[in-house]
Amino acid sequence: MYFESLLKKDMKINIPDSANIILDTLHGAGFEAYVVGGCVRDSILGREPGDWDITTSAKPEEVKKLFKRTVDTGIAHGTVTVLIEKEGFEVTTYRIDGEYEDGRHPKDVTFTSSLIEDLKRRDFTINAMAYSVEDGLVDEFDGLSDIEKGVIRCVGDPIERFSEDALRMMRAVRFAAQLGYEIEEGTFNAIKELAPTLSKISAERIQVELVKLITSDNPDKVRQLYETGLTKVIMPEFDLCMETEQNNPHHAYSVGEHLIKSVTEIRNDKVLRLTMLLHDIEKPACKTTDEEGIDHFYGHVDKSAETARKILRKLKFDRNTMVLVERLVKFHDYGFPAEKRSVRRAANKVGDDIFPMLLEVKKADTLAQSEFQRQEKLDWIEDVVRLYGEVKAANECISLKELAVNGRDLMERGLPAGKELGDVLAAMLKDVIDNPEHNNKEYLLDAQKLEEFRKARDN
Ligand code: ATP
Ligand code: MG
Repeated sequence: MYFESLLKKDMKINIPDSANIILDTLHGAGFEAYVVGGCVRDSILGREPGDWDITTSAKPEEVKKLFKRTVDTGIAHGTVTVLIEKEGFEVTTYRIDGEYEDGRHPKDVTFTSSLIEDLKRRDFTINAMAYSVEDGLVDEFDGLSDIEKGVIRCVGDPIERFSEDALRMMRAVRFAAQLGYEIEEGTFNAIKELAPTLSKISAERIQVELVKLITSDNPDKVRQLYETGLTKVIMPEFDLCMETEQNNPHHAYSVGEHLIKSVTEIRNDKVLRLTMLLHDIEKPACKTTDEEGIDHFYGHVDKSAETARKILRKLKFDRNTMVLVERLVKFHDYGFPAEKRSVRRAANKVGDDIFPMLLEVKKADTLAQSEFQRQEKLDWIEDVVRLYGEVKAANECISLKELAVNGRDLMERGLPAGKELGDVLAAMLKDVIDNPEHNNKEYLLDAQKLEEFRKARDN
């Protein structure tokens, strides 16, 4: 790799000007200061760092004296946010951590004057490097060599590190997925041993890591959550999927492997990836085998939708995500003829807002099944995508939004406000979905037609 020949001392990292101002100010006042952690890792990898964290020998009060604008972000833990123009930088005093409470903030900390002691408290070697222009790369735990090898390895004894903060086990798999790395054997075995202790960690923190994992370039690493025993804690339903075979011509994998494959087949979007991860989650509970030995999973769609919602609720996902995933799972098996009228009806039933996403879900699902009838399935999806495109281009009516008539029009024609209005609009919508040429005021508000719509609602 390109950095292999570089001496750590000579390593150059491009630090943004505003972060440099902070480093220079601290140095000028006689303190040590380095950029540290994720930003060093990402710079070496040629990735754009999300934020530039700074670690320093200065105590929080000393940091505050040196800068005009600061925020006491986590002063008890040694963190002060320094504002340079509009940007905030977390400046944290060298510290030794007690047990972690919420991931960034351990219950108690001790300040130290040693950079190396501070690096020791960090989770993985690739996250435990510091850098300054003056000293170059400080890499006490061979993070650079682990980057070269593509390895996630704990700093020090993995059992101790995961015992201090069980979330680190999720972080290990998450970094492996983001970077395409392997988890080093000792670290992996320690996760296996301590996986049950993940139950001590809050759902919010687990959610963050799970989302980062499945929206990474290697979402199939979710398999390692299973192999290490972590899914057993956060969604045991998934373990059953991994252990359920599907003897059926449409399938080539176990339920769990099908779920994983389907996640890799869909665009990188949180809702879509969660949908694929969970779309068949209740298949194990619905499995029956017929006389010919073929497995069936009757009723799995509705049950999976319900369980997907439950799992997301348990992980404290926001309502919007929960509802979208549930709706997409609920319709993932929905079929209809590939012709325009049926496409309009389907989009109305599914919801026009998620219909294009549903087609993506169906495609990913198909690509994760066996080759059996695959081309037919893909041709059908392609036809539906095209027809739906034509329906939208022609602005044909799918929902009340596009109906040429609204409640006010009906009241002007003497209909009373209230339920009847809604019923009449629904009858009109049903008509124009099947007959787009009817979607105009002249037709819909014609006295005789209006009478028919009012009658239609009674039956
Ligand atoms: P990203 O920002 O991409 O999620 P990161 O490595 O920057 O990754 P942060 O959560 O921003 O992760 O934390 C910054 C640094 O703090 C890490 O690189 C690591 O050195 C340390 N760190 C964060 N969380 C933990 C933890 N739970 N245990 C030990 N060290 C941690
Ligand atoms: Mg970060």
